[in-house]
Amino acid sequence: MIAGPGVGPGPAPGGDHWGSREGRDVDRGGSGVIEVPEVMRSAIHRGPGDVGVEERPVPRPGPGQVLVEVAYCGVCGSDLHIMIEGWGKPGGVGGHEYSGVVAAVGDGVERWAPGDLVVGGPSPRCGECRRCREGKPSQCGRRSAAVDHDTGGAFAGYVVTDAGGLVPVPEGMTLRVAALAEPLAVALHGITRAGAAPGDTAMVFGAGPIGALTIAALVAKDIGPVVVVEPGERRRKLAADLGASEVIAPDELETYPPWEPERQSPRAVDLVFECSGKRAAMEAGFHQLRRGGQLVLVGAGMEAPAFDPNRMILNELTVTGSFIYDADGFDRALELLGSGRLPTDVLIDAEDVGLEGLGEAMAKLATGAIAGKVMIVPGAAGAGSAGAGRKA
Ligand SMILES: [Zn+2]
Ligand SMILES: [Zn+2]
Repeated sequence: MIAGPGVGPGPAPGGDHWGSREGRDVDRGGSGVIEVPEVMRSAIHRGPGDVGVEERPVPRPGPGQVLVEVAYCGVCGSDLHIMIEGWGKPGGVGGHEYSGVVAAVGDGVERWAPGDLVVGGPSPRCGECRRCREGKPSQCGRRSAAVDHDTGGAFAGYVVTDAGGLVPVPEGMTLRVAALAEPLAVALHGITRAGAAPGDTAMVFGAGPIGALTIAALVAKDIGPVVVVEPGERRRKLAADLGASEVIAPDELETYPPWEPERQSPRAVDLVFECSGKRAAMEAGFHQLRRGGQLVLVGAGMEAPAFDPNRMILNELTVTGSFIYDADGFDRALELLGSGRLPTDVLIDAEDVGLEGLGEAMAKLATGAIAGKVMIVPGAAGAGSAGAGRKA
């Protein structure tokens, strides 16, 4: 057994405004010691589409690091790329959209204490380069070569992270809702990149996890109407439930030949958010822009789109990318989640899933059989795919 050492001087920030943890009382710091087992269960990516649960040693927090007992971890589109489509190397553990409880802290960590309720926060940025100083950490010139998806993800009982990579859960927010902070921060960054303002009309391609959060955030910010383009039946219903003014199928959209560069779609909007990663959607989205319109590519895909340069020039269109978060993205995401303006019960799939159900849930997400954000509950020991819900 290892135990989390007590924190140094005074209570940790956030120590006086605990969030609520569903279903179980936690040791709220107090003694500053939480017992941590030697082994934990982890969902291991064994090969494309093959996810198994294995016992692994609980990692120990090194200097400046924090060990978090994972309460909830959302399944991200990037997890599907890595674990279903084979982008990641076998043997790794995915999962980065997590909330949980600090179980132990390494040497030199004074900001957190065992019992603190946290969400996994922004990836490291240098904080010193020109873009960081401009408040654009997503463009950091020295950001670490992306996040290491191959080891140490949060589809496991515990995860270790740098002390600076955590954000406190606001008072009164459940850990289940707080686990939406990371993907919501991604969606909000897309809206920032678009420079969206009230009065703009919008179209969202793809009502998967990020698309759904983008729709909900646009509606909450009174930007719209928001038209959603989505072929999948369940996701179409989700989009409507989230407040889309209209949900259409991709084949309802017009695209135009190169000799009609100024012809405008009857559905033309100011802002298009492409959240599907599909080439056809990127190209169709480009054709739905009004003069001066902006296409924000949020979904990553392997097939390159073609954009007509004359349409872009004559209509002064902008195509831009959106990667990770705003500088204050997690704060704004948690603020919006706490505001009650997002229908979190619609956004999160009703059935939480244990680690054993991860592979099946991913397959269902990949086919669109599940529309909402699936929450994995690593602590739901031995639970199957359904009803693993809450920690007892
Ligand atoms: Zn994610
Ligand atoms: Zn930087």
